[in-house]
Amino acid sequence: PPTSNHSNAETVALDREHVFHSWSAQGALNPMVLEGGLGCTVWDNERNEFLDFSSQLVNVNIGHQHPAVIAGIKTQADLMATVAPAHAIHIRGEAARKITAHTPAGMNRVFFTNGGADAIENAIRMARLHTGRDKIISRYRSYHGNTGSAIVATGDWRRIPNEYARAHVHVFGPYQYRSEFWADSPEQESERALHHLERTIQAEGSASIAAILLETIPGTAGVLIPPPGYLAGVRAIADKYGILVILDEVMAGFGRTGDWFAFDAFDITPDLIAFAKGVNSGYIPVGGVVISDEIAATFDERVFPGGLTYSGHPIGAASIVASITAMEDEGIIENAAMIGRDHIGPGLAALAEKHECIGEVRGRGVFWAMELVANRNTREPLSAADMGKLKGALVQRGLLPFIAENRIHVVPPAVVTPEEVARALAIYDEALGAL
Ligand code: PLP
Repeated sequence: PPTSNHSNAETVALDREHVFHSWSAQGALNPMVLEGGLGCTVWDNERNEFLDFSSQLVNVNIGHQHPAVIAGIKTQADLMATVAPAHAIHIRGEAARKITAHTPAGMNRVFFTNGGADAIENAIRMARLHTGRDKIISRYRSYHGNTGSAIVATGDWRRIPNEYARAHVHVFGPYQYRSEFWADSPEQESERALHHLERTIQAEGSASIAAILLETIPGTAGVLIPPPGYLAGVRAIADKYGILVILDEVMAGFGRTGDWFAFDAFDITPDLIAFAKGVNSGYIPVGGVVISDEIAATFDERVFPGGLTYSGHPIGAASIVASITAMEDEGIIENAAMIGRDHIGPGLAALAEKHECIGEVRGRGVFWAMELVANRNTREPLSAADMGKLKGALVQRGLLPFIAENRIHVVPPAVVTPEEVARALAIYDEALGAL
């Protein structure tokens, strides 16, 4: 049912009058209206429905309006709607217990934040205080959030207008389709990217580097699956120089890849894990850092100089508990793995056979990208104008896409059904054909 009795035009007019939007020149915006949703479907006020293959900002892993999460939020709101972080409240401890039940042994403490960027911010702070070193190495093809250190750690264009601090160093990571290393195989890409990382560490002065910060699978940058040996190699290099590894699991964690954490499928154990998005599917803004016992012990005697009014907010905690419980009970992680293996993966491969403009498809679970090109041989990216047309064609056919540069990211909720994937694939097929 519609959840507001205003027309789409009224809602857009009100928005344009008073709301200032992210990452945009404000003048020409015409935001899409969404007022309701259920599972993988969202709708506006005029009975237009869309298959949500964006999961909004790749965060609604459990689908829209999951009844158990809504009920958990309501129950906690009736009990106690807010409490300062210094107090103990059972639901917060339970949220941390639920999260750490899925992390490696020796990672038992959680610092809660309001979202992903401040999770990164605090992971970097912990790494610097624990090691007594300053520099952070991250990758050019990455996004880590919009606060001070998180935006400077980011690799893409969003870093540059925000770059005031310089204790960050960037390296290229592996990306075979557009290799920076002239590599002919994934193994060579991995080996050369590791060589580049180690040489950068040596040139920067290994004793000045606190942490290597990586999205386990870079998300917004294009769902770049690490080649064999890369993540294990990063861990080995970090250990060799006494550097910590922070894995940013904000987008990739909690089911997106068909595992609890994306790194579960690779040979690496981090020292710090940043999480947000999928932990509660964004029903309430939350995030946090899972901390190794060794790093946590640094702050047994020493004060941790960080905090937030809403750290471990009880309604946020309740949404985490309900969400993880539902994921455990309903086989949602397993569903994401099955969907990737049996439906999205083969479906996108079939589309790539048919449409010349698909240069590469890659991904796992419900975390995929179609890389679109104007020319398969030169790999020249499809133009922004064509991407705009494609977006219009998808929306017109009832699919809400996630588009980044020359890519369509195929990122539905982890609860998506084979039938919904089939419908989406038919829409992608038609829209690509029309283009
Ligand atoms: N890290 C990654 C990998 C992300 O994808 C994002 C957001 O897209 C962030 C951090 C920042 O999270 P937030 O927008 O909740 O601050």
